Parts: sequence; C-alpha cells; structure tokens
Amino acid sequence: MAKIKLNFDELSPLEQEWFLTETRCDKCNEADLGIVDPVYYREDGKEFIEGKCKKCGAVQITEIVVQKLKQ
Ligand SMILES: [Zn+2]
Repeated sequence: MAKIKLNFDELSPLEQEWFLTETRCDKCNEADLGIVDPVYYREDGKEFIEGKCKKCGAVQITEIVVQKLKQ
C-alpha cells in the first residue's frame, strides 16, 4: 500500500505541537523527547507521523490512534 502524503501544516497548532512533542523514542527508550522534520501521511487507512528524534536522530513513526482534537 502506497503512502499518501498529507500536509502537516493543515493540522491545528495544538495537534502539531502534540505530535512534535508527545513521541517516544525506542532507541533512547524515553518518552516525550520530540521529533523534527515531521512527515504526516496515510497508509493502509491509518495515519502516521514520521520524524527524527530530537536527541539521537533516529526515525520514529507514530501511529495516530487517538481521535483528532476538536477545535
Ligand atoms: Zn532518540
């Protein structure tokens, strides 16, 4: 299934902040480290945010499982 790239800038500022900070890095084995260079995409009906750990630079992929925040 191909990745469908979505526009990260279309997320609300709150969602953007949440996705950029509420990440877990398996390599650092720590939560809430944050990511840089976020890529927002849909694959196989699910949405993901991919980015690099701010601390070690490893690529982290976070599935968006929570309901999107309402305005
Ligand atoms: Zn890390």
